[in-house]
Amino acid sequence: MQLIDGKKLAKKIREELKEEVEELNKKGIVPKLAVIMVGNDKASSVYVKNKSKACDEIGIKYEEFLKDENTTQEELIGLIQKLNNRKDINGILLQSPIPKKLDIREAFNCIDDNKDVDGFNPVNVGKLSIGEDCFISCTPYGVIKMLEAYNIDVEGKQAVIIGRSNIVGKPLIQCLLNKNATVTVCHSKTQNLKEITKQADILVAALGKTKFIKEDMVKEGAVVIDVGINRTEEGKLAGDVDFENVSKKASYITPVPGGVGPMTIAMLMYNVVKATKIANGII
Ligand code: NAD
Repeated sequence: MQLIDGKKLAKKIREELKEEVEELNKKGIVPKLAVIMVGNDKASSVYVKNKSKACDEIGIKYEEFLKDENTTQEELIGLIQKLNNRKDINGILLQSPIPKKLDIREAFNCIDDNKDVDGFNPVNVGKLSIGEDCFISCTPYGVIKMLEAYNIDVEGKQAVIIGRSNIVGKPLIQCLLNKNATVTVCHSKTQNLKEITKQADILVAALGKTKFIKEDMVKEGAVVIDVGINRTEEGKLAGDVDFENVSKKASYITPVPGGVGPMTIAMLMYNVVKATKIANGII
């Protein structure tokens, strides 16, 4: 079994991006990310802090817009439109969740597709589905970068994704299809889940249930990618995969923490630098 070290790979990507940003700075260009947070979700505050830390390290400017839970839909859309029009802002990220009374879909739809560094705007979602260059949502993009970095061949392989959310499972279907995998997606209504997962050469768990994937659900030699970030009763971080036992069967496996999580942030940074290059006509 080989561990896929997301932390190490993410660090390498951040270092490369730092050099790219230094080159951009020489041309008088400074990438900038705007982050909008509405309400006070505790987990989101941690994620946002990690994102701002990564920006600092790479040399990406960062501006936070903290709105209270009474913010109206009109105010939120107004803010996004303002940021769309600001030339100094290259990327816009709306941290989810936002209060339930607000329509997050409408908000994502309003983000300029050239500043949509999370890849949630329908234009980017559509482009991904037809294999055109676009902003790919950061977690699936991180998964793909990990497979590439470890020279894991996807073409012709049976890839099984558990979870069909708009931010992970669905975009990952397209990413793996674009790499010529045979993709199956499972979800909470899937019957005979184990029979399907046991067919997987590449198994991606993105369902949000602690240690749900047991060794009897995994084929010998499978590549196992654990997207889950869950809190155990003791307050520890745990993935969707029973790492201790599944790792004995897998050929490659990602840990939690230190796997997909750091890659998600690295790919966000990658997307901000890409958006900056687009805005300045460099690509
Ligand atoms: P979600 O709740 O939106 O979606 C969960 C999906 O899993 C759904 O499609 C559901 O049908 C499926 N599912 C639930 N129970 C199932 C079951 N018993 N069998 C089969 N399918 C089942 O979740 P999400 O936002 O996609 O996140 C999934 C997990 O990934 C969570 O633990 C989340 O914290 C984590 N996550 C991690 C990162 C990262 O950077 N590593 C990023 C996003 C999400």
